[in-house]
Amino acid sequence: MFKNKLAVLFTCLSVFSFSAQSASFDTVTLGSKGGIQDGNLTAFLIKSEADSHFVMLDAGSVVNGLIVSEQKGAFKDITVPDDSPYTKVGYLLKDKIKGYFISHAHLDHVAGLIISSPDDSKKPIYGLEATNKDLMKNYFNWSAWPNFGNKGDGFKLNKYNYVDLQPGVWSPIAETTMSVMSLPLSHSGGQSTVFILKDSEGDVFAYFGDTGPDEVEKSSAMKTTWSALAPFVKQEKLKGIIIEVSFTNETPDKSLFGHLTPNWLVKELSVLEGINGKGSLKDLNVVISHIKYSLKNSEDPKVIIKKQLAEANNLGVNFIFPEQGDSLQF
Ligand SMILES: [Zn+2]
Ligand SMILES: [Zn+2]
Repeated sequence: MFKNKLAVLFTCLSVFSFSAQSASFDTVTLGSKGGIQDGNLTAFLIKSEADSHFVMLDAGSVVNGLIVSEQKGAFKDITVPDDSPYTKVGYLLKDKIKGYFISHAHLDHVAGLIISSPDDSKKPIYGLEATNKDLMKNYFNWSAWPNFGNKGDGFKLNKYNYVDLQPGVWSPIAETTMSVMSLPLSHSGGQSTVFILKDSEGDVFAYFGDTGPDEVEKSSAMKTTWSALAPFVKQEKLKGIIIEVSFTNETPDKSLFGHLTPNWLVKELSVLEGINGKGSLKDLNVVISHIKYSLKNSEDPKVIIKKQLAEANNLGVNFIFPEQGDSLQF
């Protein structure tokens, strides 16, 4: 079994080394909202185009996200093997998703992971140490839910293997051709995470968990992140980012609770632009996540945020607003 896996791995690796220039990233939006719509909470699948193994960036909605995405045709190129006992959704969850990257342990980013855990396959959970500790302490603790982890209180079911990422250090992502570097973000006094993924060609994609602007958070976390991304912008290796805009510009700073508005996002992106000079972010793909589902019959916050971003966009970046089930190539 193990030998077979190795053989497959080596075959894949040799294919990768010959697959040239074009390799970059595919994403599927499993959940696009920052709340309150259960079934559509922050979660993205990402993979390198050089192989067929996904990882999940946050896991607010998992099974429902896979169902909706499958219905929208996001996985039409993936065939379930004849000998698989699973539906396509089952096959994806059990065999194609090779790990979770959790930015922080707020419920809207982990609900899907917790609720699908009984039927999930063995996987690593990658996060900064504090995030992994929060998962153990608050959810996988035999009180909120059985302990499916390999650490924490009580009997360990050992389905999830916590991998503590060292901030600022590149580590390989098991069973994929990607590597990752994480950095902490400031989220209303709590810690969140940006994950920078790199493929075998050196192209990168950045996924931001919830974050406020440095100025409001009294932090330098965003500045540090922009400095880390700037060399990739310069080499035209940054293929895109996913970042949150939770609120409209009308929201006062004191009510942001560790989130961004359109104006604050453009202000933050300007810091990145400033490092390599005016125009350096032209056509950069910036995917907007975490817009809250609204119960009000007034204008949809997404429409307002879209308009406000377009008005503030003096950088020439390409703002993208995916719905649940949408797939995007970078
Ligand atoms: Zn959130
Ligand atoms: Zn949060």
